[in-house]
Amino acid sequence: MEKYQNLIDQLTLEEKASLCSGLNFWYTKGIERLGIPSIMLTDGPHGLRKQADNRDSLSLDDSIPATCFPTASALAATWNRELIYLVGQALGEECRQEKVGVILGPGANIKRSPLCGRNFEYFSEDPLLSGEIAKSHIKGVQSQGIGTSLKHYAANNQEYRRMTIDAIIDERALREIYLAGFEIAVRGAQPWTVMCAYNRVNGTYCCENPLLLTQVLKDDWGHEGLVVTDWGAMNERVEALIAGLELEMPGTKNGNDEKIVAAVQSGELDEGILDHAVNRILEMVFKAQATLKDDFAYAPEAHHALARRAAGEGAVLLKNEAKSLPIAKGTRVALVGAFAKSPRYQGAGSSSMNPTRLDTLYDALLKITGEANLSYAPGYSHKGLQVDQALIAEAVECAKNADVVVVNIGLPDIFEVEGLDRTHLDLPESHNMLVKALASAHPRVIVLLSNGAPVLMPWINDVQAVLEGYLGGQAGAGAIADILFGNINPSGKLAETFPLKLEDTPSYRNFPGGPKVVEYRESIFVGYRFYNSVDKEVLFPFGHGLSYTEFEYKDLLLNRKELNPGDTLEIQVRIKNTGHRAGKEIVQLYVGMQNPSVYRPRMELKGFEKIALDPGEEKLISFTLEPRAFAFFNTGVKDWQVEPGIYHIMVGASSRDIRLIEEIQVESILGEAPIPAQDRLPAYVNFPYDARISQSDFEALIRRRIPSNTVDKRDIATINTPMVDMKHSLIIRYLLSLISRQIEKMVHANPESPNAYLMRATAAEAPLRTLLMADQFNRKSVNGLLMLINRQYGKWLSNLLPKRNKSRKR
Ligand code: BGC
Repeated sequence: MEKYQNLIDQLTLEEKASLCSGLNFWYTKGIERLGIPSIMLTDGPHGLRKQADNRDSLSLDDSIPATCFPTASALAATWNRELIYLVGQALGEECRQEKVGVILGPGANIKRSPLCGRNFEYFSEDPLLSGEIAKSHIKGVQSQGIGTSLKHYAANNQEYRRMTIDAIIDERALREIYLAGFEIAVRGAQPWTVMCAYNRVNGTYCCENPLLLTQVLKDDWGHEGLVVTDWGAMNERVEALIAGLELEMPGTKNGNDEKIVAAVQSGELDEGILDHAVNRILEMVFKAQATLKDDFAYAPEAHHALARRAAGEGAVLLKNEAKSLPIAKGTRVALVGAFAKSPRYQGAGSSSMNPTRLDTLYDALLKITGEANLSYAPGYSHKGLQVDQALIAEAVECAKNADVVVVNIGLPDIFEVEGLDRTHLDLPESHNMLVKALASAHPRVIVLLSNGAPVLMPWINDVQAVLEGYLGGQAGAGAIADILFGNINPSGKLAETFPLKLEDTPSYRNFPGGPKVVEYRESIFVGYRFYNSVDKEVLFPFGHGLSYTEFEYKDLLLNRKELNPGDTLEIQVRIKNTGHRAGKEIVQLYVGMQNPSVYRPRMELKGFEKIALDPGEEKLISFTLEPRAFAFFNTGVKDWQVEPGIYHIMVGASSRDIRLIEEIQVESILGEAPIPAQDRLPAYVNFPYDARISQSDFEALIRRRIPSNTVDKRDIATINTPMVDMKHSLIIRYLLSLISRQIEKMVHANPESPNAYLMRATAAEAPLRTLLMADQFNRKSVNGLLMLINRQYGKWLSNLLPKRNKSRKR
């Protein structure tokens, strides 16, 4: 018996099927006669992107003003659960005002490579941190009676061919890395919806993947909400419904509702499955309706202040030589960098929204320094990637009369775009040259970075301080000014590693793969799990971040020396602020096994706490570790298991700054089971320093051959074939040129905008099924196209003929 059985009984089969897809781009369907409302779902994640007038608009630019909070990379760098909860709560309030039932976020995909174009929208390379931050975000939003959409489930770790790529991942990496963050968020916060990703995982599209949607999400984790497609991520509707996908978005004329009806009528689909899906959809729309029936108004100024606070905690002080920061009052500052007047504060794509206001670093500093003590030079042109010697010379001149130079550089907006991965980790040459020139002309240069993902810093030894400001949202500038002048003591820490070079990253040889598959050969050795296991030097390690004060770690205490079944491990540690300023410290707890027979990283984050301490103050921090903290995923029994042995409990200020270590003997606390050979593969137990894993070792790990990765134009085209792979077809070339003309028309006012790049990239890589999102196409016309592409002219004609005959008969 479903909760809404009564209502479901009054629905016709057609009505039930119709509820399983959207009304249009952003709304679900309602059924007036039964009082079923239509609700709005819209982006997300770091602010509300609600399209202004036109409900169906594909435009990414015109949304109503809303608070732009820092993007996910910055939020994660706060490591502050309570603060993220407050941000979520504020997002929920804005949804209430704007009558939005579900906000599409947060994104909890793992940063497999720093190159992923959407890393600014994701939290971390570590699943515990990702999961904890996502959990707080979801709880905050949902405390307002507004739903979230945890996305993009799963293994959407790149933008290149994101709509079709098949991510080949071994079971352990999937469970221990790529699903683990989602698991924490789902179990801990029950997001109203989970958004399935576009891509395939091990051969099956996420939208119709019973392992992901039913076995893991619903059965193992107990997800009570519904699964919605990413926009246009549907493949086979009936299979998807059976696999656990309830809602298809957006609503289009793709004939899928009719397919559901036909499948029930033919007996292919059990009507109970449909009822169950409808029940979950009804739960969502009625919950949203209960909230949205009341009007609400949020306080924009309070939200702006909260955005500023979050940006202040998300900025990471990477380097601070000879205490160059903070800057003393009365110091003459040269502010250099065009971003100081036109800030980089969010990334491009579906998350980019219109802020209620936008602070600049120039204005924020001016308030502190006064005009007499602030000079400014752009140093590079806002868009220009080319080195401009005149601008550099002007900046050097400007620096001469100052006591300190603050240079704001970073990634220009076209570097961080949904739909496009970066191909390198470099800053623009114009920015690097500027820093070099300033550093050789001035002894005190402070670099402020504005970017959503790691970059290389060839000038790192030439400058005195580096502050990573990330993409700090609409109020970020004020927070940065406060950090520079010591009104805020920095307390962010990196949620990701900054490598020394791209070639060092563990996925380097297999990112982004393609055209058809991407191999996750590095398995669980992602981020610091790799660098720390092989002792590879990095630019800045995971968990790193400096403060204007110092903290002492002492008295690490475990409640037992041996862990047996049924026990939990209680850990205590004392932290003292030994400096002269109040500050916040993020205390990190890592666990690692001594000489495991199973392949394991040397250390994994298993707990963290952020605490505030006044000078001289000390606090006792406690952690409780459950058995899962010691476990790996045993692929033989398909369950979590703990290998008995000695484990290290490491507490520190970063993954490379462990201050205290204790040992504990752990028994088989999750039961005994044989460990299969592929969990002990020598190539992974002794994971290579250069992360080079051979094809045969990877195939041994996944226990099958790697699927073909070549595009052959003789392959039969399907609705999932990317258009770029069918360019041999005249009709596709024609179609692509039509689409391209249409895009250029849409972006003509700003052809160099990041969203213009996004549209171009997406169009080329889009599979044919994407056409179904446009009003001009339906399933029949797309099928007709396919016949022509596949040169099945006979079929195509015979498809047309019977209809003509019929109409003649009439
Ligand atoms: C993105 C999602 C987004 C959706 C709706 C998709 O292309 O991948 O993150 O929520 O569009 O805009």
